[in-house]
Amino acid sequence: MKMFLQMLMVGIALFPFGQGLRAGVLEDVMKGKATVIDMTYPLNEKNAYWPVWPYTPFKYEVIANFKKDRVFSGKYSTPEHLGTHLDAPNHFEEGLPSVDQIPFEELIGPAVVIDVTDKVERDADYILSPSDILLWEKDNGQIPEGAIVLLNTGWSKRWHDYDGYKNFDKKGSMHFPGYSKGAAHFLITKRNIKGIGIDTLSGDCGTSTDFQVHHTINAAGKFIVENVANLDKLPSKGATLIIAPIKIEGGSGGQCRIWAILPELPPTTYPK
Ligand SMILES: [Zn+2]
Repeated sequence: MKMFLQMLMVGIALFPFGQGLRAGVLEDVMKGKATVIDMTYPLNEKNAYWPVWPYTPFKYEVIANFKKDRVFSGKYSTPEHLGTHLDAPNHFEEGLPSVDQIPFEELIGPAVVIDVTDKVERDADYILSPSDILLWEKDNGQIPEGAIVLLNTGWSKRWHDYDGYKNFDKKGSMHFPGYSKGAAHFLITKRNIKGIGIDTLSGDCGTSTDFQVHHTINAAGKFIVENVANLDKLPSKGATLIIAPIKIEGGSGGQCRIWAILPELPPTTYPK
């Protein structure tokens, strides 16, 4: 672990600063001077996954236990697109990089958190518009170079209610919020982002049938992280995100661990 962090630090040192990443942020983590928020849901059989055949739930089985085998070990199976996971560029666009081919420097960046929870409370089908992004920029300044943009829709409140999370209507269409194609296009063409994320099943809204957000983001060689946890705990800006996806050779995506690093400790943990 120590070596991994040292390698991260070397990586960070090679970055040009002034891109939203602050020098020494990982050093702060190692010295216990930063707050780390885990943005990942634990994997279990209740995890949300794309609810279409032949996608299946997460399955975990104990294959050795202490009583019988004097060792504990398990095995698991899961679709790539289950729980907190990443969609690689090859998910919606043929011939683009798979999950194992995304370089580390694309998976670390300043987090931009756009909060649309009010709008989603009034309309479960709400889609983020380019004007919502401009509104965020009015308060926070322009989205920094290399940002990972995260949409906080408030949908995480439904995480433990899987039916409510999918929110199917009687006609078989899901209803949950997402990005608009226009917003995705704006982030790709007018800003230089590394990827986007959301606290729902998909970057596209639940009613989408053409997955234009996925196509727009993936075609640009960028990723989407879905079912992101704890977005309500992040500030609008100032956090650094680290995304660590599973390395499935040729995979279209897969489960990932996501950490957000806040540069300071919460006020209650400051020494008196
Ligand atoms: Zn996915």
